[in-house]
Amino acid sequence: MSRYPLLEIHTHRLQENATVMQDTLASQGIVLSGVVKGANGLIGVVKSFIDGGIQSIASSHINQLKQIKEAFPSIHTLSVRIPMPSEVEEMVRYADASLNSEMTTIKLLNQAAQKYDKQHEIILMADLGDLREGYFDIDELIGSAVYIERECPHLILKGVGTNLGCYGAIQADTENLGQLVEIAGKIEMAIQRKLDWVSGGASSSLPLVLNQTLPEGINHLRVGNNILLKDTEQYNNYQFDAIRNDAFILKAEVIEVKDKPSHPIGTITVDAFGKQPTYVDRGIRKRAILAIGRQEAGDMMKLMPMVDGVEIVGGSSDHTIVDITDCKQAIEVGDTLSFEVEYENLLYLTQSPDVDKKYL
Ligand SMILES: *Cc1c(COP(=O)(O)O)cnc(C)c1O
Repeated sequence: MSRYPLLEIHTHRLQENATVMQDTLASQGIVLSGVVKGANGLIGVVKSFIDGGIQSIASSHINQLKQIKEAFPSIHTLSVRIPMPSEVEEMVRYADASLNSEMTTIKLLNQAAQKYDKQHEIILMADLGDLREGYFDIDELIGSAVYIERECPHLILKGVGTNLGCYGAIQADTENLGQLVEIAGKIEMAIQRKLDWVSGGASSSLPLVLNQTLPEGINHLRVGNNILLKDTEQYNNYQFDAIRNDAFILKAEVIEVKDKPSHPIGTITVDAFGKQPTYVDRGIRKRAILAIGRQEAGDMMKLMPMVDGVEIVGGSSDHTIVDITDCKQAIEVGDTLSFEVEYENLLYLTQSPDVDKKYL
């Protein structure tokens, strides 16, 4: 007997996606760090990435990196969130590398690395307009690079990187990534050696890879979303045909089926989340309620029904309502409905203790 909601993780499909991404990037001389934070760093997901050929695994959370390092000691680990000063000791123990933008933290990392007799790799982040992490003053960035190179014996200046598309929704393009390559050149002049990595972003940089316009010199990407799923393609307006979207399938159980009006009756105030909704009156419709809600899945409107004629109407913390009027197959209480998911859904589903996970 399965428990529901159930998240099926199809490991061979995931491994296939990992191989496609790894090979596509390798053919252009780009090293890939596979980012697993979108799947809560689930070890089965990490294993599929590694089986697919990825040798560097990244996450934003130290507890995930710790589990990854313990399960796969020979795999390179990267922290994609700049470290908290309070976690530098765990950082040097469980992450081989981290993205950084603050000298205070970098000095603490150097001390922690000395204490644990480690060499920790630093990728300095440049903010090229998206306005999340990174040096905005490029001279300051170069100053930090020189300081790490000369004054921090327990740190290795691995490279420079940037992040785009996350806060400011700025698109990766030849101009901003070209600037990153220029910055790398200036650092290399200042320290008199080549950097290993010029890290040109995340899934949102893949359009440039696919149309072969990624500026020469970018040789590392940190990709999560587009190995796990495909919704980033629709949001960034590109198509990566060889990547499949069905590595994760959600199954939720039907707990009510009834004919009801499509427009609520009475005075409309606000819903469970303080929003004033609007409703289209489509007359009486057949509706089913599923035992899954925002707490387990995030925004249920992003779920993609795998049965024709099933349409998501809405939901609340622990219920999802679907319209099944146009559904050819009969749906009854106790049946399950399957959905493909978007990144937000995966983020919630993989960390919910109420969602069973099954590796297939
Ligand atoms: C999350 C994250 C990534 C991976 O982004 P995807 O959209 O999942 O490919 C890369 N870099 C940084 C800094 C991140 O925070």
